Amino acid sequence: MDKKAMTIDLNSQILLDKAEKDGVETMYDRKIGFKNQCGFGLQGTCCRNCGMGPCRISPKTPRGICGADEHVIVGRNFARMVAGGTAAHSDHARDIAHTMALSSRDGNYTIKDEGKLVALAKEWDVETEGRDIYDIAHDVADIALMEFGKPHGVARFLKRAPKQRQEIWKNLGIEPRAIDREIATIMHSTHIGCTADIDSLINMSMRTALADGWVGSMIGTQFSDILFGTPTVRESEANLGVLEENKVNIILHGHEPSLSEMIVLASEDPELVELAKSVGADGINLAGMCCTGNEVTMRHGVKTAGDFHQQELALVTGAVEAMIVDVQCIFPALAKVADCYHTKFITTSPKAKITGSIYMEFKEEDAFNIAKEIVKSAVLNFPNRDKSKVLIPEHKSSSVVGFSTEAIIGQLDRVVNSQIDPAGTIKPLADCLKSGVLRGAVAVVGCNNAKGVSNLAHTTVMKELIKNDIIVVTTGCGASAAGKFGLLNKDAKKLAGKGLATVCELADIPPVLHLGSCVDCSRILEVVGETAKYLGLDTADLPVAGVAPEWMSEKAVAIGTYVVATGIDVYLGIMPPVGGSSRAVEILTKEMEKMVGAKFIVEEDPVKLAKKIIEGIENKRVHFEAKIEEQILQGAEA
Ligand code: SF4
Ligand code: SF4
Repeated sequence: MDKKAMTIDLNSQILLDKAEKDGVETMYDRKIGFKNQCGFGLQGTCCRNCGMGPCRISPKTPRGICGADEHVIVGRNFARMVAGGTAAHSDHARDIAHTMALSSRDGNYTIKDEGKLVALAKEWDVETEGRDIYDIAHDVADIALMEFGKPHGVARFLKRAPKQRQEIWKNLGIEPRAIDREIATIMHSTHIGCTADIDSLINMSMRTALADGWVGSMIGTQFSDILFGTPTVRESEANLGVLEENKVNIILHGHEPSLSEMIVLASEDPELVELAKSVGADGINLAGMCCTGNEVTMRHGVKTAGDFHQQELALVTGAVEAMIVDVQCIFPALAKVADCYHTKFITTSPKAKITGSIYMEFKEEDAFNIAKEIVKSAVLNFPNRDKSKVLIPEHKSSSVVGFSTEAIIGQLDRVVNSQIDPAGTIKPLADCLKSGVLRGAVAVVGCNNAKGVSNLAHTTVMKELIKNDIIVVTTGCGASAAGKFGLLNKDAKKLAGKGLATVCELADIPPVLHLGSCVDCSRILEVVGETAKYLGLDTADLPVAGVAPEWMSEKAVAIGTYVVATGIDVYLGIMPPVGGSSRAVEILTKEMEKMVGAKFIVEEDPVKLAKKIIEGIENKRVHFEAKIEEQILQGAEA
């Protein structure tokens, strides 16, 4: 198989050639090495949950040694994926909540969005009148930390959902209680000799996933905004062409903004900029990767170096002085790739130590000093760069980023008729959906997956959707793909249908809106929830959908599951490992619709996938328009 055919990114193709020349192995080589992946694993029908196993299900061995059939095994494996994803997002959020508990007026971390903090404090019944903002912040942080393990009640943020949605969750018994409790319950129930009923396992998976989207991720996003600033619209650039020949190149990769925010500050520190000049560089060039890249581009316009599949290739440029990482989606292979160049591969989190890396532990208590040390070690590495090994491919695209919910509403205000309507509401979006100028809205999220061609499904789906007047919002590596291929550029409106292009023109936005990192999928829940509430409808009534064309991580499984549980259809471009259980497939792709008003749809061909989403949106419109009609008639009768 031709490695270069495994990606549509021209920079990646150039660097794959260089990697070969430099004798560097990448994910693309390893994927080719795994010619036939295990069929049992692909179907989800292998189990090693106890020492009697591993067991695998086949016509000859239809049950594991304990008697678990294919449905139980698939269900347990699926549930554990959801638990893994929820744990990752939520532990990230826990760290941000701890950071807020540490915040102080003259400390490393301060409160940047006081308005958002006060609003949240009021929502959570924290006294705000006449109090110091940091006392309020500490009380709010304590309450958030209780959301992980409180003994009674259900999650606080569930009240943000439309009433109808809250009722559905209550009636199904899937209201998440506390985040850690839901994760622990899944691990308990999937232990040998516990739950052996696939319906129950999928219900539990929904409850746990909701603890991610409506609790963990939501805390992560809201608290990051309060601490580091709610993103505003700004310009940036994307792809490996953002690396600079004459500067110290530092790549920030991973997820948590507590680290990346400090690295941004440190890289602007005059002392370190001077140091960079003293070692022969023109300055320091910071670039982001994966979700940390999304966090810092949203808040500071830091350029995006690339996505999940480009992490090794970034080092193959030979121009990266340091890759600084924290947690999640970091290839262990980076240690070996860094060895082939002068690059320092610096791990910082006790939660994600990697053999072969340089470990510089990051502690929030001494954040800025540690960040400066890390950046300094990158700067001092500049003279070690071997110029003969440098190749920075030239492609990059300009993008507009920073579309938090507040920023979206801010742009929508541009089309409000100030004589009639108030500013600062979601009404213009609701009106565009009602009138059909926008046929619908679709969130294109998730990773890159070596089972497909990198970036092909993301870009195909996005282009088809906008062409059909469906506005796209994106997060995670979907957002990186959109940025690299120019879809976050305002000029991309020329690729949009007439309705969407007009909206883009009037609201001065690109047709694809970058909402942030993977935890920021909670912003999508917020926008959809607010639109539904504004219209007096449930989320399932709206012409909206989610799609993860190239998903790969357990976090993506948790995201997909909470989006469906929120009443929004989720389209997947990669088949999850559930095909071995006809019952699992039946529930996930059909019966969930009866339970929560939405389901999963899987289609691995990107063109067909886009077509199915558009058909799905048009079907939803029939229902949506009937609901609106009903409201008008009721209004007329009253
Ligand atoms: S839990 Fe059952 S199916 Fe799984 S490994 Fe043990 S005996 Fe086999
Ligand atoms: S989109 Fe997927 S690959 Fe990218 S950072 Fe998020 S979980 Fe990782």
